[in-house]
Amino acid sequence: MTDLRALIRDIPDYPKPGILFYDITPVLGHPIGFTHLIERMADPFRDAGVTKVAGIEARGFTVAAPVATELEAGFIPIRKPGKLPYQVHRREYSLEYGTDALEMHTDAIQPGDRVLVVDDVIATGGTAAAALALLGEAGAEVLAVSVFIELGFLNGADALEGVPFHALLTYD
Ligand code: AMP
Repeated sequence: MTDLRALIRDIPDYPKPGILFYDITPVLGHPIGFTHLIERMADPFRDAGVTKVAGIEARGFTVAAPVATELEAGFIPIRKPGKLPYQVHRREYSLEYGTDALEMHTDAIQPGDRVLVVDDVIATGGTAAAALALLGEAGAEVLAVSVFIELGFLNGADALEGVPFHALLTYD
């Protein structure tokens, strides 16, 4: 099994001074590493009855969309403002390094959907919490939030208000 942690590249002071950025592009670019990442992120949820995987723009899409196909589930894009063509729900949120907003199509959730939220990194948890708020507004049943990398020292999972949380790797 590929050592995924060894493939993650640390970039100091990106995108702002004081931020240590965890760059997953070497994992995505590694043929077997990427396959193993997706298999390992899907593993805990293979029997969970997931009908939709929600991914968060933009790096989150690279992980969430293949996890959706691995689970034979649909994919829901949660996007930055102005990118989605149909009617949207919208939520403002704060980042580790700034503020932003997320949008999701108002018809993304169907009755009975069981949704898994997937992102690359959870830092403060603000992004994932905004995604949960959007899904809650749409009436979704959210099974869990699953990320590749958790920055444990920022306690982002605490922002998820009791929604089950899974991380492949934790940095303390
Ligand atoms: P947050 O809302 O603080 O949990 O930030 C999570 C989002 O910001 C994720 O979608 C990541 O893509 C990105 N992010 C925040 N901090 C980092 C970091 N130190 N390294 C890599 N990505 C990060």
